[in-house]
Amino acid sequence: MHSALGGVSCFIFGPYHFMLLPCLAAKLIRLPQFDMDDQCFWSGSSSGAFSTFSSWNEIRRRNPKVPWFPLVWSKALQLRQFVFGWRLMHKKIPTDDIISHKGIPLVSKCNLCGLDVESFNHIFISCSFSVALWKQFMDCFGILWLDPSDLHQLSLWSIRKRRILSVKDPWSVGFVVVADNIWRERNERRHDGPSRSVSHVFEKIKCDVQDGKFNLQGMIK
Ligand SMILES: [Zn+2]
Repeated sequence: MHSALGGVSCFIFGPYHFMLLPCLAAKLIRLPQFDMDDQCFWSGSSSGAFSTFSSWNEIRRRNPKVPWFPLVWSKALQLRQFVFGWRLMHKKIPTDDIISHKGIPLVSKCNLCGLDVESFNHIFISCSFSVALWKQFMDCFGILWLDPSDLHQLSLWSIRKRRILSVKDPWSVGFVVVADNIWRERNERRHDGPSRSVSHVFEKIKCDVQDGKFNLQGMIK
């Protein structure tokens, strides 16, 4: 027993203590001598208090900010709209062209105008039904429709316009709300629901914007 313990002792302290001691000595910290109890501080927050939010911020993977984030990450949007906005900007919406691109052939026709095949760009940017909605929304802010080539260009243009507008939040929220209502109207028609007119859908857009957590009194006609 004695020899066995001696062997362990030797193993830990014998051959290595000359290497370990300088290493430990370098880590010696002078602790202040106060008559007070120790306290735990969480280094992940400025207050020292632990929270799951600060914990998540410590471990999450940080991607660079995208230029369109003020249009999508708005507290005035409902969670469902929030998620739709993210899917929209990443082209994660199952339009006919995106489904076909995954290897599922489709006979396609736009349910909103009935004049063209349905593509992501057509349904959100170039369809006459959608353009009428975008134009009506922008009329409320006295801004003319840009006639963009794609949604990405529209988002960058909307960000630039946002800087010069005094009513920034309703303008920002409108980007996702208009697109969301276009997509919901498309889905209603695609699944044999009722077809609503442009003016009817626009009334719904105004209601959705006014549901945002800001005061719109006198801002939208
Ligand atoms: Zn169309």
